[in-house]
Order: sequence, then structure tokens, then C-alpha cells
Amino acid sequence: MTSSQDQAYYRDTYLFGTEATVIDAGQDDAGPWVAVSPNIFHPKGGGQPSDEGTVNGAPVIPSRTEDGLVVLATEAEAPAVGSAVVCAIDETLRKRHAALHTAGHVLGHLGEARGWQSTGHSHYPGQARLDFSPEGFEAELATPELRDAVRAELQEAFDAVLARGGAVTATTDETGHRTVTIEGVNAEPCGGTHVSELSQLKDVRVLELKIKRGALKVRYEAEHA
Ligand SMILES: [Zn+2]
Repeated sequence: MTSSQDQAYYRDTYLFGTEATVIDAGQDDAGPWVAVSPNIFHPKGGGQPSDEGTVNGAPVIPSRTEDGLVVLATEAEAPAVGSAVVCAIDETLRKRHAALHTAGHVLGHLGEARGWQSTGHSHYPGQARLDFSPEGFEAELATPELRDAVRAELQEAFDAVLARGGAVTATTDETGHRTVTIEGVNAEPCGGTHVSELSQLKDVRVLELKIKRGALKVRYEAEHA
């Protein structure tokens, strides 16, 4: 079923509504579910929360099955396979997630440019952060004052990236591996949603650097312009 599902959210972050066809449907412990194509719903994954939205006006919760199919849990009666449905996602939420996720790519790159090794990330609104290994960089991170100086340097570097601007593009190869490229920054494998131009980011703030249980945690926030 996976190959027959067109992941429209891979191509267009700003497709907030579409007509689609039900390609699969079923029932599990949580209730009825449907899978539609084209699919505009981003399921939770890669540190990014799932979209919220509706199918034929009924709220759905997207998730991804082990074989890569995006399924939509619903409390309403699932429409029959083959039927046409109207899909919509929460536009504000999608744009917020895309802004946070894209800012996370840039900040990850700026941390790696300092020699830090990425160990994890979360792009959830209100708690977005990147984790790095501080190994080898303990001296520059030893005190709150030093960490705040590094934070200011990261903010300055981020502002410089935003001042330059650049396109954000994604390609998916024939095996399904997707690469997201930020012009002038980097390219990395990613299945999330992103803004299409860095100028769409605003209010990017590097908030705080913390060392916790041997990990360097860099909190940040970003909004969609
Ligand atoms: Zn991404």
C-alpha cells in the first residue's frame, strides 16, 4: 500500500487542504482508521509532532505504520475504500512546526560547525531543542557566563544565515530516501516539513545552553513569518 500513497506533504508544506481517495481503511484497538492519497498529513516522527486536521470535517490523528503508510485515526465512521474525501490540516500548526523544524536544521549545522556532535533533537513548540555531545568543548561551556557567550555567538551566526537567506528544497530518491537542502547551510536526510525559503522564518531565538547529564542542550524558538 505504501507505494500507492502519494506523500503530498513531502512536496508542499503549504498544501493545507485537498481532495483525496481512501486507499485503505480498517479498525484497530484505538478505533477506525483510513489512509488517503494524496496525503497531506505529517505523522509524528523525527522530533516533529504530527499535524492536526480533518477528513470530511471529522478530526483525525495521523501516525505512520511500520511499513511507512500514513494512517489517520478517526472517531467517526471510516469512509469506504475508493471513496473521495476532503482533507484539511491546521494551517497555523503546520507553519509553526515547519518553522521550528527548519530553524532546527540551521542551528544543528551551526553547532556542528563549532565541532559539536549532534546527538538528538526535538522540534516541539515551547520545548524545541538540539542536543550535542560537549566532549572536547568543556572549557568553552564551563560556566553559565561562558555558555551565554556561546549562545550569543550562535544567535549572531543564525542572524547572519537569515540575512543571507536561501531556498529550502527536498528531493526523494527512488528508494524513498528524502534529503532536505538549505541553500548555503547543509543537506541532510529528513522526513519533516520545512519552510521553502529562510526569509519565512522570524523571531528566531537561541534561548539557553545547558549541560544536563553529560549532554549539551540548546533550546531555541522560531516562528513562521
Ligand atoms: Zn527536517
